Amino acid sequence: MEFGWESDHLAYRDDVVAFLDEELPSHWHGATAVLGSRENVAYSRRFAGLLAERGWLTPHWPSEYGGEEASPWMLAALGEELWSRGEPRGPQYMNANWIGPSIMAHGTPEQQSRYLPPISAGNVVWCQGFSEPDSGTDLASLRTRAERDGAEYVVNGEKIWTSYGDVAEHCYLLVRTDPQSERHQGISVLLVDMPADGLEVNTIPGVVGEHSFNELVFRDVRVPVENRLGPEHEGWAVVREALSFERVGAPRWARAAFVLNEAIEAALSADRKLDEVALQAIGVAKSACEAARILSYRVIDERARDLPPSPHGNMARAAMVQAERLVAEACLTIDGPETLAYGSRADHQVRKSLAAGVAAGTYEVQLNLISRLHLGLPKG
Ligand SMILES: Cc1cc2nc3c(=O)[nH]c(=O)nc-3n(C[C@H](O)[C@H](O)[C@H](O)COP(=O)(O)OP(=O)(O)OC[C@H]3O[C@@H](n4cnc5c(N)ncnc54)[C@H](O)[C@@H]3O)c2cc1C
Repeated sequence: MEFGWESDHLAYRDDVVAFLDEELPSHWHGATAVLGSRENVAYSRRFAGLLAERGWLTPHWPSEYGGEEASPWMLAALGEELWSRGEPRGPQYMNANWIGPSIMAHGTPEQQSRYLPPISAGNVVWCQGFSEPDSGTDLASLRTRAERDGAEYVVNGEKIWTSYGDVAEHCYLLVRTDPQSERHQGISVLLVDMPADGLEVNTIPGVVGEHSFNELVFRDVRVPVENRLGPEHEGWAVVREALSFERVGAPRWARAAFVLNEAIEAALSADRKLDEVALQAIGVAKSACEAARILSYRVIDERARDLPPSPHGNMARAAMVQAERLVAEACLTIDGPETLAYGSRADHQVRKSLAAGVAAGTYEVQLNLISRLHLGLPKG
């Protein structure tokens, strides 16, 4: 097997790295950069504008929407470099990768001309209103209700764990428009402008660090019918397609590998002895990062060849969570007593690995899907 990057990808990556070295404030360069803190979310707007100026915010978008139709491999090179520095795009990552493409695929011309230009310019924050207190993994059981009243929907219900809900200008919201229907039927997507009368946003402190988690409480919030994305009651298909634009998702393994390298370099430059136990932990973590990388490349290759989503995506996701966890363990071993300090490298990595195993579909669910879809085992 011959496996390597093409020369134009390597040149592109070099340009991105040079830009990041020059532009990112110093705290982004270390293993303890905080994804989702208020300070960093504010910085992300400025940073996304700079990326947009270079055509690097939405390079994979079609040219009619301001993109350059960049290949999935180009996008992967960009994503790896950005993720390894702590993902300075912040919420813009979500906009560029699936909210924008979903609006391209299902939006009316009015929705497209209103919502897409600010996304490609990098100056808007969206949040994703999916999870509810009793509907996380089992998202199709969601109960937030949108009732038709003339030219508006009246929304009542509660969303939870909404990242960036406190700073977002819009919410990509999943609601139940047909209360008689069950599960996947009768769900619609609304594009809600924020703030809105009747919408309360409460920030929730979380163990994952300074990440902004929020609860959104809807009490008779009125949303124009023209803000519905796609056909009424058929939102499940819209959102499934939207999330399939993500496929492999964030290249978390790149961040994990960056943190591992930093821990090793710090130990070596401090002349700290790495004993057999530490060397084993490093070996295991490094192998996990490499496994996640190769499995992710398999998914990118499928996307580059326009193949439909496959269980390789679940395997890549599961491998990334393992890589994050094993790097956390390696940091605990390498950094010794320093790991007890709040804000230490290991502390950050443990929190990141906690989030990795829950956000965007839990680790356990990925494993179930691998057994069912890849191995063909019956549903448990
Ligand atoms: C950093 C972060 C950011 C997030 N941002 C957002 C956001 O912006 N918007 C949003 O809507 N949500 C967001 N979430 C929420 C996330 O999508 C949910 O936490 C996730 O879907 C799991 O749902 P839950 O928390 O209700 O857990 P549950 O679904 O209650 O699961 C609890 C446990 O049970 C296990 N479990 C559940 N069902 C099964 C099953 N069938 N088989 C095996 N095990 C199972 C799970 O793996 C898990 O360990 C975010 C979460 C994190 C960590």
